[in-house]
Amino acid sequence: MKFLPIFLDTSRGPILLVGAGDPVRARLRLLLAAEARVRWHATDGDFAVPGLDAAAASRIEREESDARNADLGGIVAVFCAGAGAIGESVAARALTAGVPVNVMDDPARSSFIVPAIVDRGDVVAAIGTGGASPVVARRVRERIEAVLPARIGDLAAMIGRWRKTIHDHIPDLPLRRRFWERVIDGPIGEAVLAGRADEAEGSLKSIADPSAYAGASVPGDVEGCVTLVGAGPGDPDLLTVKALRALQDADIVFYDELITPEILDRARRDAVRVPVGRRVGKPGIGQDAINRLLIDAARSGRRAVRLKGGDPFIFGRGGEEAEALREAGVRCSVIPGITAGLGAAAESGVPLTYRHEALRVTFLTAHKAHDASNVDWSTLTDRKMTVVVYMGITAAPAIRSGLLAAGRSPETPVGVFARATRPDAKTVVGILDHLPALVRDVEGGPAILVIGDVVSHSARWRNTNSFLQTLQMAAE
Ligand code: SAH
Repeated sequence: MKFLPIFLDTSRGPILLVGAGDPVRARLRLLLAAEARVRWHATDGDFAVPGLDAAAASRIEREESDARNADLGGIVAVFCAGAGAIGESVAARALTAGVPVNVMDDPARSSFIVPAIVDRGDVVAAIGTGGASPVVARRVRERIEAVLPARIGDLAAMIGRWRKTIHDHIPDLPLRRRFWERVIDGPIGEAVLAGRADEAEGSLKSIADPSAYAGASVPGDVEGCVTLVGAGPGDPDLLTVKALRALQDADIVFYDELITPEILDRARRDAVRVPVGRRVGKPGIGQDAINRLLIDAARSGRRAVRLKGGDPFIFGRGGEEAEALREAGVRCSVIPGITAGLGAAAESGVPLTYRHEALRVTFLTAHKAHDASNVDWSTLTDRKMTVVVYMGITAAPAIRSGLLAAGRSPETPVGVFARATRPDAKTVVGILDHLPALVRDVEGGPAILVIGDVVSHSARWRNTNSFLQTLQMAAE
């Protein structure tokens, strides 16, 4: 984050606007939309602005004097747009005087930049790219525009009007938060978003006991709950919408070592974050201790999220945690995630099933060589079965010998997908006979092994093979 997003209180004083042409008029409209009082030096002397309503127009002070001598005292911020050398000189003075200044399309002369804005009244989203790409910012804005209800600002405004009253009725912060959640998520919020503001206001007024209303929001909610959330293989964009919502609602997040910082960033800003996985060189706190932490968090009335790599129910011990919670009488729900095998396959273009070619998929774990020796490899020899192996790095030699001894062809295509969907992902493909060497090549985990003919559909396989063919042809 190169810039700190802040929201400026435009009622604190006038904004100094310097410039001419369409650029300055675009800025003027933005400033007036934010209810600013604007002292405008039109550097070409043209003050005409068509289509302004009277209230907005009344907030413009037209200044004929030379902008370079403008009085900066009490000015909240300076905007220059289409002002050329005059703008540069005003900006330099503003910088020296410590007044925030923006020169349109000239970050070097500015102390702040103007974000792309989603404007829903009291709800405003500001999007920045550190000045790098306004086009990217616009694309992000379009997406936010698409998901934000049009009247979300009305909802915020209504809550703003009732804030103090409810604060006086419900001094307890978690209970108050629940009150507002029930208002926002229930019929009252729905009425505001549907444009029935009076009805919503009436319902809010008719709540006799706000604390009881908050407590009753969802049965059992005040006792807290635990949500086991699948975080996917690493790319934060692979979180489900539901997972994101749970992260945004959480009071506390317990996460394991597979969780990337980018995913943790999506949790509510003031949620407590507790690592419970293995750290480098440390064994981790153990499953019983984790279960106890989850139970205690829920019993203390918090909404806890147990964030797990991939899917909670695929080699994630999610089953054990859910059972422990149920036994303790703690409300628990599960949000599925994209498991690493699926993430790796999609990223590398390996279809795990393929008509006539791969009719079955098996997900298995081979944590250590002794786990591998417990696997019944004879069930995995079918050529039409794709085998996806989790935790298979150290056991790679045992996996190779197990499958070969059971009769799977040494020529079977295999792929090793390390750190799949993360920026440092690495894929290596080859044949089963060479599996241990391939695993060494990816330089560290976590990694998924995919064994089966389908690996030959990946781009990496095609490239590797055409490269080998070229070598062979050159040798011949
Ligand atoms: N519940 C998880 C699996 C946890 S077991 C899931 O559904 O994905 C841990 C194993 O998952 C690792 O040893 C590795 O085999 C695999 N894994 C997790 N994240 C991975 C990633 N980004 N790339 C490759 N393998 C990954």
